[in-house]
Amino acid sequence: MQVPLLDLKAQYATIKDEVLAGVAEVLESQRCIGGPKVEELEKQIAEVSDCRYGVGVSSGTDALLNCLMSLKIGAGDEVITTPFTFFATVGCISRTGAKPVFVDIDPQTYNIDPAQIEAAVTENTKAIMPVHLYGQMADMDPIMAIANKHGLAVIEDAAQSITSTYKGKKAGSLGTAGCFSFFPSKNLGGIGDGGMVVTNDETLYQRLVQMRNHGMAPKYYHKYVGGNFRLDPIQAVALLVKLPHLDSWSEARRQNAAYYNEKFAGTVVQTPYISPDCQTIYNQYCIRVPRRDEVVAHLQSKNIGCEIYYPVPAHLQVCFAPLGHKQGDFPVSEKAAGEIMALPVYPELTDAMKDTVVEAILTFLS
Ligand SMILES: *Cc1c(COP(=O)(O)O)cnc(C)c1O
Repeated sequence: MQVPLLDLKAQYATIKDEVLAGVAEVLESQRCIGGPKVEELEKQIAEVSDCRYGVGVSSGTDALLNCLMSLKIGAGDEVITTPFTFFATVGCISRTGAKPVFVDIDPQTYNIDPAQIEAAVTENTKAIMPVHLYGQMADMDPIMAIANKHGLAVIEDAAQSITSTYKGKKAGSLGTAGCFSFFPSKNLGGIGDGGMVVTNDETLYQRLVQMRNHGMAPKYYHKYVGGNFRLDPIQAVALLVKLPHLDSWSEARRQNAAYYNEKFAGTVVQTPYISPDCQTIYNQYCIRVPRRDEVVAHLQSKNIGCEIYYPVPAHLQVCFAPLGHKQGDFPVSEKAAGEIMALPVYPELTDAMKDTVVEAILTFLS
């Protein structure tokens, strides 16, 4: 049996008519940028995130970039983040001219280790950018305590964790701002690129809106150099159709994860650790196994989808060589990068599919 890592067609089949109707409505209106559909989505995403404001943007990457720019972070500044993340987190810091300063991760949650953050704070530090990896939020209380003590902004990279919670609080609602991605493979995925920033800070909200449109206000008057970070209504209508299903889809992912956890219990397969403070949305279900690369190759040979998120930590990426890091600088991230692999966990998986995945792994490793 073939098991894809993700099957977007299965989900689309359940909402196709509504999405097509929404897209047709946008096309008929010929309001193709911004407008009421984008505003409705901003309202609803802010609401499910327990935030006052939402700013629709062109991608998760541009959500992060817009936040950094709107917080006036640039050359000479430092932003503390994790090396164990998708490239965009660190790429955006670098693109503003600021210096990414890495702090290693917690070996269980794979999120930034708060106990190591304070040692990385300098007089140039302007912000902390924790990443809520795989759907589970970082340990936000100590992060916020350090940020408050040193007067730092906190930008939550919640691209993988929309509606995830920490001590009952929603992703994006604890920091200065939270950033979501609507990349199609995220739990709430669009029909192309898209993203959103949420915040409770009215001044920051105004700047985010302005920065999204070339720093322009009023028309053709530019106080800042912004960008074109706008969200299209064609994305908004698709996302508005999907949003009411998000909780049940995330619940189905958690049930798939629980199924795997039970099957892997007592084996060499290390299943994900979820903190009792958190409810994850399992954008990824990542296990750790011995001989990881052989296991990946074996699954691929059997047409079972799997993926390594992420094989190379940011501090070892060629483009960040000027930062001067070397192998061994962030050992917990490096070890995770060598042992971790993601299994299919999407909501529409059947038990037979999960059994196929489990059996392929356990037979190979036994
Ligand atoms: C997906 C992702 C992003 C970037 O989002 P895009 O919409 O693809 O630009 C940023 N950070 C993390 C952790 C992500 O997973």
